[in-house]
Amino acid sequence: MTPLDLDRRNDELAAWDRDCLLHPTTHTAQHARGDTPGRIVTGGEGVFVTDRDGNRFLDAFAALYCVNAGYGRTEIADAIAEQAHKLAYFHAFAGHGNEPAIRLAKMVMDRAPDHMARVYFGLSGSDANETNVKLAWHYNILRGKPEKRKIISRWRAYHGSGLVSGSMTGLKVYHDRFNLPLDGFLHTHTPHYLRRPEREMDEAAYLDFLIAELEALIAREGPETIAAFVGEPVLGTGGIIPPPEGYWARVQALLAEHDILLIADEVVTGFGRTGQMFGSDLYGLRPDFMTIAKGLTSAYAPLSGSILSQRVFDVLMTGADDFGPLAHGWTYSAHPIGAAAGIATLDLVDRLGLVENAGETGAYLLERLRERAEGHRNVAEVRGVGLLAAVELMKDPSAGTWFEPMTVGPKVVAEMARLGVMTRAMPEGNIVGFAPPLCITRDEVDQVVDAFGQAIESVLGA
Ligand code: PMP
Repeated sequence: MTPLDLDRRNDELAAWDRDCLLHPTTHTAQHARGDTPGRIVTGGEGVFVTDRDGNRFLDAFAALYCVNAGYGRTEIADAIAEQAHKLAYFHAFAGHGNEPAIRLAKMVMDRAPDHMARVYFGLSGSDANETNVKLAWHYNILRGKPEKRKIISRWRAYHGSGLVSGSMTGLKVYHDRFNLPLDGFLHTHTPHYLRRPEREMDEAAYLDFLIAELEALIAREGPETIAAFVGEPVLGTGGIIPPPEGYWARVQALLAEHDILLIADEVVTGFGRTGQMFGSDLYGLRPDFMTIAKGLTSAYAPLSGSILSQRVFDVLMTGADDFGPLAHGWTYSAHPIGAAAGIATLDLVDRLGLVENAGETGAYLLERLRERAEGHRNVAEVRGVGLLAAVELMKDPSAGTWFEPMTVGPKVVAEMARLGVMTRAMPEGNIVGFAPPLCITRDEVDQVVDAFGQAIESVLGA
């Protein structure tokens, strides 16, 4: 620790941070003692952020893969300020509206797949997933099937931190201390060939295994009790894992056979990250619900959405006159400031060609990571799609032996931060994730890969 760091540990702001603020997804005791990095970020420009000590970092994870348009975008900041001056808030209950929310709804529906019908705005990916589950239940109640309400998700999925969205999540750390999942939230296998149950299985046999397991789960529970299957088109927080070839087509066929809805959680994959507007476009998904957040406003203001399909909407319309209002609403649903940020963000995404850049520069990132990392004795896999990539580390990939989870990945990430590049160690493994702002250039990708190469050598040897 440098003398400057020591001063900072003891100054007023750092003390208030330890004494007053309970941080999300942070080791509570370590932070209270001052043993976390305690980095206070004060500014950002493009793909770079600065902390209050003047340290500059290339943010190769777009904060929490959300600042997709990059930092310091005056167009978005100005749109927010203008809206705040004009009308900071009015609600959307009982048919009231505000101009930016209506305009943004139109922009979202213009970009969503053709079979989608409406968007409901919320605040976070978690609440949007809760909305999807409630609307799936509402849909089945209106169809006279109130018992069709279980939700299937995958181990290693991340769908949020609420009680329902946290139950849909498939990561143990988000369950164990909270007695989750709630009843009726089921999990099936993580679709990841590296984690196949038998090393001898080839990819085709592994896909058959995944589908047979899902089919057995549906049969065991009874399809008449299952409302929906939820999945991220590319598993995100659970390790940045693109789906096995043919996986989504087989899953969708099975769901259709059993009248089970599909929720595509596009919180990370939505608005360009995979090199297509949505992950659903890339993998040919026809979801009944799409969860959107993060890239919708590039995180300049909190806003999420649940996009629902025509077939769901048609049922919500049946009997709607007798049913009374849709009794589901947040005070901040369709918030004008979030919506103004969304309009400015989606305009920028188009104007700067960020979807195309994610495809092209993403391919370059993957190629450079492969060049740099493949062949290292601890690198088990370099994978990715668009500007979403990961390097998974194992003790001995050829023998199939793993490091203890979160022992090596976080060290590589800490070393990269020392070298001026921020990334994230993904939970339940030793996985270094990359998800930079979609405006990243090839030169900046080179800086990320160089820092990664140096970090892995200093932590694990050449
Ligand atoms: N779904 C996915 C796929 C996510 O990655 C996240 C957040 N990382 C969420 C939902 C939850 O979003 P939020 O943190 O905005 O509630």
